Amino acid sequence: KARALGNRKVVAYNQTMQDQLNHKKELERAIRKAINNDELELYFQPQVDLRTRQIVGVEALVRWEAKSGAAISTDIIIKTAEETGLMQRLGHWVVDTALKHYSHMLDERCAPKCIAINVSGHEFQDGYLADYVIRSVTRYDIPPSRVQIELTEQVFIENLERNQHILNRLTTSGISLAIDDFGTGYSSLAYLKHFPVNTVKIDRGFIKDLPQSKDDLVICQAVVSMANLLQLKVVAEGVETIDQQELLRNIGCNFAQGHYYYAPMTAEQLMMELKKQRAGRLYPAS
Ligand code: C2E
Ligand code: MG
Ligand code: MG
Ligand code: MG
Repeated sequence: KARALGNRKVVAYNQTMQDQLNHKKELERAIRKAINNDELELYFQPQVDLRTRQIVGVEALVRWEAKSGAAISTDIIIKTAEETGLMQRLGHWVVDTALKHYSHMLDERCAPKCIAINVSGHEFQDGYLADYVIRSVTRYDIPPSRVQIELTEQVFIENLERNQHILNRLTTSGISLAIDDFGTGYSSLAYLKHFPVNTVKIDRGFIKDLPQSKDDLVICQAVVSMANLLQLKVVAEGVETIDQQELLRNIGCNFAQGHYYYAPMTAEQLMMELKKQRAGRLYPAS
């Protein structure tokens, strides 16, 4: 009897694994198709200066709405693309699309100071993407200082020797670097002084429970004061409430991004916001 039960368990387990596998295969196929058929979209989320409320930057974020109407989370798209060898293609598409839109904003004289593009550790490592960014910036005739690459902490820690060359190629060409999701990886600013990084983005995980969480407040305070000492810009990610904004302002954080200001939007919507801002109809400086 015990054995029969045991067998049943094994069968159930295998079935779950098979389901997961089928699901994954299906997802891979769908994402591959979406990339090949140009069904992905690039959204843009403004970053604001808390002192002036002006849009000072925009971060490009991949979106994909499946034919079924279901929105597939971007984290899953990126992870799947990496696991299936599609990331290089997706990465090129992102760089190209982001710079094309930014170059249009420059032409229309409403471009914010910078466009931020996410590059995953996986994409970064072989160095092709960095070169693609450098070439594309030239091709679109964009001042390199207006392009920022967002990288996670792991890039600065793992495969350091190889990555350092790539980081240097980017910064030598004038492109700036931001550390994304700061605090979720190695939680040390010490290594930053070895790299020409100019922005630190505090992960949303440390913002979401503010102002209640005293621990998170202490962490944010520590990041802001160390960043100030190292002359790095700090952007708070995922700001959703006015209380969070006020607290961040009080501790000297000058830049933020989050639904309280703007959710990620299409290029068309972004153009409208930027043109409003250019016309001075957004917010009075406070
Ligand atoms: P990330 O770079 O840290 O991007 C911030 C994420 O927070 C975005 O999720 C954004 O939509 C979300 N967010 C912004 N404000 C708020 C807020 O107020 N509340 C909440 N709850 N969320 C907010 P998204 O777009 O789903 O992207 C997830 C991650 O996928 C990104 O995290 C980034 O690591 C990666 N990713 C997105 N686009 C690309 C890309 O083009 N290339 C690569 N390599 N990775 C990308
Ligand atoms: Mg990012
Ligand atoms: Mg982040
Ligand atoms: Mg993230």
